[in-house]
Amino acid sequence: YPWKDSALRDPGVRLVMESTLSARDRVGVQDFLLLENYTSEAAFIENLRRRYKENLIYTYIGSVLVSVNPYKELEIYSKQHMERYRGVNFYEISPHIFALADNSYRAVRTERRDQCILISGESGAGKTEASKKILQYYTTMCPTRHNTHYIRERLLQSNPVLEAFGNAKTLRNDNSSRFGKYMDVQFDYKGAPIGGHIINYLLEKSRVVHQNHGERSFHIFYQLLESGDNSLLTRLGLQKTNPQHYHYLVKVCVCVNLKVYFSFVCFCERTFELLKVVASVLHLGNMQFGVDEFEETHVTTDTQLKYLAELLGVAGSALSEALTHKKLHILFVGEKTMISPLNLDQVLSARDALAKAIYGRTFTWLVQKINQSLAFQCSSVIGLLDIYGFEVFQQNSFEQFCINYCNEKLQQLFIELTLKSEQEEYEAEGIGWETVEYFNNKIICDLVEEKFRGIIAILDEECLRPGDASDITFLEKLEDTLGGHAHFVTHKLANGKTRKAVGREEFRLLHYAGEVNYNVTGFLDKNNDLLYRNLKEVMCQSGNQIVKQCFHPDELIDQRRPETAATQFKLSLAGLMDILILKEPSYMRCIKPNNGKQPGQFEEVLIRHQVKYLGLMENLRVRRAGFAYRRSFEAFLQRYKPLCPDTWPNWRGQLLDGVSTLVKHLNYKPEEYRLGRTKIFIRFPKTLFLTEDALEI
Ligand code: ATP
Ligand code: MG
Repeated sequence: YPWKDSALRDPGVRLVMESTLSARDRVGVQDFLLLENYTSEAAFIENLRRRYKENLIYTYIGSVLVSVNPYKELEIYSKQHMERYRGVNFYEISPHIFALADNSYRAVRTERRDQCILISGESGAGKTEASKKILQYYTTMCPTRHNTHYIRERLLQSNPVLEAFGNAKTLRNDNSSRFGKYMDVQFDYKGAPIGGHIINYLLEKSRVVHQNHGERSFHIFYQLLESGDNSLLTRLGLQKTNPQHYHYLVKVCVCVNLKVYFSFVCFCERTFELLKVVASVLHLGNMQFGVDEFEETHVTTDTQLKYLAELLGVAGSALSEALTHKKLHILFVGEKTMISPLNLDQVLSARDALAKAIYGRTFTWLVQKINQSLAFQCSSVIGLLDIYGFEVFQQNSFEQFCINYCNEKLQQLFIELTLKSEQEEYEAEGIGWETVEYFNNKIICDLVEEKFRGIIAILDEECLRPGDASDITFLEKLEDTLGGHAHFVTHKLANGKTRKAVGREEFRLLHYAGEVNYNVTGFLDKNNDLLYRNLKEVMCQSGNQIVKQCFHPDELIDQRRPETAATQFKLSLAGLMDILILKEPSYMRCIKPNNGKQPGQFEEVLIRHQVKYLGLMENLRVRRAGFAYRRSFEAFLQRYKPLCPDTWPNWRGQLLDGVSTLVKHLNYKPEEYRLGRTKIFIRFPKTLFLTEDALEI
């Protein structure tokens, strides 16, 4: 791998050398650290605007890459562009996602230290596109190992397959990821990408049974109906009609790439089994029920039931019985089972719960399948995290609560990894640390996840409590336990009056990025995520190979209550943190410039909002407070020794003395730099720029 000068790789701040860039590239500053007025949000946004107008969508804050979605194809992702970024340091060339990708790759190669690239931003900001560009960079630019070409293809193909099942058109994004994704790209000891591993987080299963106006269900349903040939559809009992025919779908315009994507979906030997599951969800949605004179609910759509039984490989009578009845185990004098009929509303929600469970579990199965096809022995990894950004809507529910909690955890990790390690480095180098004020959001993470008295613990407790537990009693418990917490607020004021800004069914959290009101309606149901036992029993007997793997009989034997949705999410986030903490992070923050998905439109209010929620000003302030740049004595001398007759061509004494001699010759003022034990720390980016300029001359 021909990098220019590995020793120059700098894990601290990377700077953009203006002198080596073309005039167009020099619009505004390419690193916000260079802003004169770095505390001004207006100056920050103006810089973004000027660059965006020139299609310069990338800008750094030190090592953090900020991007603004162009909403149009830019000619900046070709193989030639990839070549330009190979082995080049950040400050030598204009900011780019490839620079970030290459930088992480070089770290893996030279230091053998696992890396991760954390991409955040709100829906439609460009996270998934960014992660795909990074993957393309690795699959195109890295060496190939003999006989592993097919792995590259699989790595690339995993995206359209997962997108078919996990993405949907929403009001914010035509191709919105409805799940969080962490993907390890695995490299062998020669730096060839040889495998991958994906972890999925919190798929928005509710979309299977309900979509908001103007939105759609997951792409795969439409792809199957539009692009499946007649014989396939007939075998699945489906008709090539308007999607509206299916109650779980709504009529929306057709997505152009349906055919292409569908061909990717047909990738595995179990494709037909998989499509059977997809079709069964559609049939479930079309099941209808009637109530007889004894008030008992029955299936009235026998044809649907027949198809469903066939596709799922279960007995129709057992399925219809399980959909309309609830089985209760009563541990009273000996074990007894009681069957009680469900009313129509209960039947419909049992049916929806089954559809969500089948789809959600199949998605997880799919991820496992992809992982099996990508499994290899690797020596190091670069992890890519493409996960939902902070969400604040008019109405925020359980999903936003989970998503925003996830963002708090990531902010906590950022503090742990970046700010603390910065402090440790200063200490290790014997440079006095000047305290930088920053908000440590651990208090909010604790508020959500603490044992016994955190919001999740209280929610779980209400979910377990028999009797009158409801969303409102949950809210009351929150008030009782957390009222008075600095980051928790309800409509009740201490003086007995009412706070207007928070509804009676809401609680407000003061997140690190701002305040959000959550409506508690549906919290208990969503957290319980209940599927009746008899439906599970029927699914466990399924003849469909996938469904069979998704519903294991052990589940029925296990007397323990399954983890609630929030607890599962909490545990999976804790697992993610364990993975990330061991890696060296790079950050990318994506911004959506307008709500209309339009190129060239820079809506300031919207952008200001995101700058705030992404914590960019705070980020910049903290970076500027310390030393903007650091480099080992050796690397510094190596690069700049031509600038001083005493160090050129070689310095023979101690490295520290060599660097001292060099900076004296360069006229660095004492306030501009410090010498640590092994590194030089430079406070202002400009100092280094002038030095780089001198090198050019
Ligand atoms: P979500 O959270 O909803 O999944 P996201 O942040 O992953 O959103 P993307 O799907 O990556 O958003 O991007 C939304 C759309 O914006 C893309 O479908 C594409 O049309 C456009 N887009 C994003 N990034 C780029 C880019 N670098 N160049 C051109 N278009 C882009
Ligand atoms: Mg996405």
